[in-house]
Amino acid sequence: MWGFTRAGKPRKNGEGQTYWTLPGSVHPPENKTQSLVNAIQAMPLVREYVVPLNQHIGAFALPCVDVGQHVLKGELIAEAAGFISAPAHAPTSGEVIAIEERQVPHASGLTTSCIIIRADGKDQWRPREPWDDLQSHRVADILARVQRSGVTGLGGASFPTAVKLSSDRDHIDTLIVNGTECEPYITADHSLMRERAAAVYAGINVVDHLYHFNRILVAIEDNKPDAIVAMRQAIPDHLKERVEVRTFPTRYPSGGEKQLIYILTGREVPSGGLPLDIGMLCHNVGTLAALSDAVFHDEPLLRRITTVTGEAVARPGNYDTLIGTPMRELCRVAGVNTDKADRVIMGGPMMGFALPHTDLPVVKATNCLLIPTGTELPLPGVAQPCIRCGLCEQACPASLLPQQLMWFAQAKELDKAEDHRLFDCIECGACAYVCPSNIPLVQYYRAAKGQIRQEQAEHKQAERARVRFEARQARLDREAAEKEAKRQERAAAAARANAAKLAAAASDSTDVSDAVERAKSKHPDKPTAATPPALTTEQLTAKLSNLTGRVAKAESKLAEARADAPEQVKALETTVNKLQEQIKKVQADLARAEEQN
Ligand code: SF4
Ligand code: SF4
Repeated sequence: MWGFTRAGKPRKNGEGQTYWTLPGSVHPPENKTQSLVNAIQAMPLVREYVVPLNQHIGAFALPCVDVGQHVLKGELIAEAAGFISAPAHAPTSGEVIAIEERQVPHASGLTTSCIIIRADGKDQWRPREPWDDLQSHRVADILARVQRSGVTGLGGASFPTAVKLSSDRDHIDTLIVNGTECEPYITADHSLMRERAAAVYAGINVVDHLYHFNRILVAIEDNKPDAIVAMRQAIPDHLKERVEVRTFPTRYPSGGEKQLIYILTGREVPSGGLPLDIGMLCHNVGTLAALSDAVFHDEPLLRRITTVTGEAVARPGNYDTLIGTPMRELCRVAGVNTDKADRVIMGGPMMGFALPHTDLPVVKATNCLLIPTGTELPLPGVAQPCIRCGLCEQACPASLLPQQLMWFAQAKELDKAEDHRLFDCIECGACAYVCPSNIPLVQYYRAAKGQIRQEQAEHKQAERARVRFEARQARLDREAAEKEAKRQERAAAAARANAAKLAAAASDSTDVSDAVERAKSKHPDKPTAATPPALTTEQLTAKLSNLTGRVAKAESKLAEARADAPEQVKALETTVNKLQEQIKKVQADLARAEEQN
């Protein structure tokens, strides 16, 4: 849990409704009346519109039109590129004159790919298919229509609404309708509720049709009495039993989802969790009205109400503005006095950021252009060292330790910052607002979160690379093992073939021996190739004569050698002996031959 250590007890408002007080929080000057004097005004058509492809949290949309192509109002010009993404549509009819990098309203001064449309002045819609009811449509078709419409959260975060609506429907029983609008100066939601409450309820109908809530709590701070009345009067009969318009004292930042849920129900969303973890869904009133346009009128998110206010604005008010309208045009229509203007802030004084110039487009998240004079909203003074006064801790609505988080962020001790629930910080700026040392605390938290996210992304990338490497290694090992198995199989087959060959050869040789034996048995007297043919009597006699002559000569030489050459005696003795042995053998053969004859 995120730990409301200083959470108040339940209290009753003037109407007897229960609310829970936030720990911390602040109450800066509201400055809301200036922009509520007039009704919502439609911003007139301008010559050129710039539609950025990253107006939402998630993947950039992908252009699906070409330069030179004529488009109709509401026509798809960029498709969503993934599950968390949102498409973009032509805000009016005209020609696509460029798809190029342009600077967009972002705290970092980013440029991004944009589709530029030159309006033809006809504001001609593409064909539309309005729906009269929800009952005759399948849930999947409703969700698909929401996805195609490009509706994103208009309360500030710009999270694709179709993704939020695809969350588990079984255990969500409460819808929180966020009409809090707690930032000073901004009155876009306030004007919407007081003038177009029916559209908000039509959007509530859509979400209720998908979820069948047990209760629907419409949350409005008590500084919007006319909006409270309008929202109460507009409750449709079929929702009267389940809708409750709840009011509570004005404090900043009661509009944070977790903070609002606590104020209304006393329940805490777990640290790092979402409202749906405790069975709740939270939608901003502007988002619900846009949802109604999308589902019932087949109108994608092409416009939003933008508050233009501040003492440098001659006609402060709420302008129904097409997405992509250059801010300079909006400032011109609202009568911004550039001599008096100190700076232009997108958003409110607490969470907004200063823009480098007004040559930037209005995007889905542009809820306010605040153009104050220098005396109205002085720039914060130079930051001084922390004096450990503890005011930031008392102001924090999330029960964090802002000063401690700052030390950790400064020292790059990101683990410790995370342990101290850095990601429960909603960047409301209440801590910086009360800091007597003008320390830009939120900037430290944003930088630390950015660093952690980057490290996590890098870690994820490294992890993906490791998994890919291991998978490749496993594949190579598997292939090598398969190869080895095949090689062994081949070797075994070769060995078997060899053995068979040898066996065959052995069998052949046995057959040959058998044949020889068989031949021998058939011709027992026929000499074999191994037996030399016997000599005749005459030949043996001649051989004996020859040998006798040779032995006589050798004996003679032996006698001479014994007298004159003793070194030859041994060799001659050997020769005489061999010749005598041969003589004996021939004499034996001769005797056998004579016997046979
Ligand atoms: S409010 Fe500012 S000076 Fe005081 S403790 Fe917090 S950071 Fe330090
Ligand atoms: S910005 Fe963060 S730390 Fe500061 S008060 Fe708000 S939630 Fe607390």
